[in-house]
Amino acid sequence: MPKIVVIGSGIAGLFAALRLSEAGNQVTIITKERSVDSSTNWAQGGIAGILDKTDGEGKESHIKDTLVAGDGLCDRTVVERVVEEAGDRIRDLLSYGVDFQKEGDDFHLVKEGGHSARRILHARDATGAEIERALTEAILQKDNIEVREYCLGVDLIQRVHGQPEMGIKGIWCLDLETENMNALYADAVLIATGGCGQLWEKTTNPKVASGDGLAMAVRAGASSKDMAFFQFHPTALMTGNDKPFLITEALRGEGGIILDDSGLKNYNINGGLPEKYSFTLEYSELGSLATRDVVARSCDQRMKITGAKNVWLITDHLPKELLHSNFPTIEKRLNEFGLSLGKDPLPVAPAAHYMVGGLKVDIQGRVMMSNDNPIPGLYGIGEVACTGMHGANRLASNSLLEAVVFANRAAEHFISNPIDSEEEIPKWRADGMQELIEHAPLVRDLETLRKTMTHDVGIVRSFSRLERAGRMLDLLTEEVDLIWRKSIPTRELVEIRNLVLVATHITNDAIQRKENRGLHYNIDLI
Ligand SMILES: Cc1cc2nc3c(=O)[nH]c(=O)nc-3n(C[C@H](O)[C@H](O)[C@H](O)COP(=O)(O)OP(=O)(O)OC[C@H]3O[C@@H](n4cnc5c(N)ncnc54)[C@H](O)[C@@H]3O)c2cc1C
Repeated sequence: MPKIVVIGSGIAGLFAALRLSEAGNQVTIITKERSVDSSTNWAQGGIAGILDKTDGEGKESHIKDTLVAGDGLCDRTVVERVVEEAGDRIRDLLSYGVDFQKEGDDFHLVKEGGHSARRILHARDATGAEIERALTEAILQKDNIEVREYCLGVDLIQRVHGQPEMGIKGIWCLDLETENMNALYADAVLIATGGCGQLWEKTTNPKVASGDGLAMAVRAGASSKDMAFFQFHPTALMTGNDKPFLITEALRGEGGIILDDSGLKNYNINGGLPEKYSFTLEYSELGSLATRDVVARSCDQRMKITGAKNVWLITDHLPKELLHSNFPTIEKRLNEFGLSLGKDPLPVAPAAHYMVGGLKVDIQGRVMMSNDNPIPGLYGIGEVACTGMHGANRLASNSLLEAVVFANRAAEHFISNPIDSEEEIPKWRADGMQELIEHAPLVRDLETLRKTMTHDVGIVRSFSRLERAGRMLDLLTEEVDLIWRKSIPTRELVEIRNLVLVATHITNDAIQRKENRGLHYNIDLI
């Protein structure tokens, strides 16, 4: 019976594991912390998609909005397929027990930035947690799925070392409880490790988002694509803590408005509706509900001009009942910081949010080498993958959708093209390696890395800053490599090694770009 290892327990990993197990495969999911620790579990707004297969107009408009947000770089075929398959995959989620919010017999649909219609299904403002709950419960019912928590994927094992075209036959993992390195045999490995928000000082992502899967696949011969496009979410709550909490775009979909200090002052003095005081109108006629790249950039520029640490999200003009019923998680969290939804101006600023680029994959989720051939036995699904769906900028609530569609596609591809070849796998060679006694240099390297990415590879870039970042990353690569070669791996070491590699791919891609598109904005190219 084929054995498959899935790395990651977010929506992509869990969904693919269910599909593969239903076809009789033996699946092992490895995950870095608890199973629920994922970006999926933190997703608020929802999942976009047209349920009714006959609604051609609805699907066409979803395709159009996705292409507009992607600023000319989406792969139209991929967008069409994902939108076409959305209804079936959302029905699959329902069959696994996901409880999306209803209004009478129909689903309650919301709208977010860049969407021209209400087409987002949600579970109030905790959609991801609901999806994670249902899929995890479905996994527990399966005898042929094993979940290994606190198991860190470190590197892929190639069938023939140095020859990616020969394929992958497993993965080395670090058991974070026993601190032992283990080799797991696999006929196929599905990388579903999510994004890399931990590269920046302020991020909406959980701690596990350190680009591990992307880095390990690249070391095994995979290509990355469109790495310069990293999405910053415009409205992360800034309350002085270093872990920004996301305020979903759905709140702006319901009429929330972003103001700067002077707009807030004028609104307080003159009253009326807050829209007319919003600086975001200077950047787009859609104002606070323009696409994320535009809103994040306008907030960033306004904060740089005024020197303010944040802008303000205004909700006091919105119906209290609607806020209370649709955004209970946000309301509870705000209350913890002494703020009230529907009353207080909320201090918000952009924070690193979503990796639009990623592992270059084909329409089946197979990970590609630079010669555009797939690496046998290796799939990339979810945020770690660059499918062409998002182009230069992701449309809100399209990522859960893309993840579930490609998880299904990758699973189906393996099911129709199984590899089953039990083989010996090597043992981890630790000869001459020492325990890492001092972690302090790694902590300093991580701080340097985050500062570099925040200041030099952020929302607004320039060639001189990108090149400076490149030089700093060369140095960090050398430093981390020195430690890596002589030390027994620890989580900190594995993660910084991966983060530095992913940062280098982002910076190099940004340096090579000759035009501003979507999320990539270089002031030297204006
Ligand atoms: C706060 C927030 C709100 C969001 N809201 C929305 C929304 O409303 N709608 C939407 O469409 N998208 C939203 N997104 C984006 C969306 O949630 C993610 O893109 C999506 O959930 C990614 O799913 P995934 O399965 O690819 O990865 P994740 O859900 O991030 O899961 C990755 C998994 O891989 C594991 N992992 C990572 N590295 C390793 C390793 N080396 N070894 C073992 N395990 C590893 C992690 O522990 C985790 O289990 C949001 C994201 C955030 C952070």
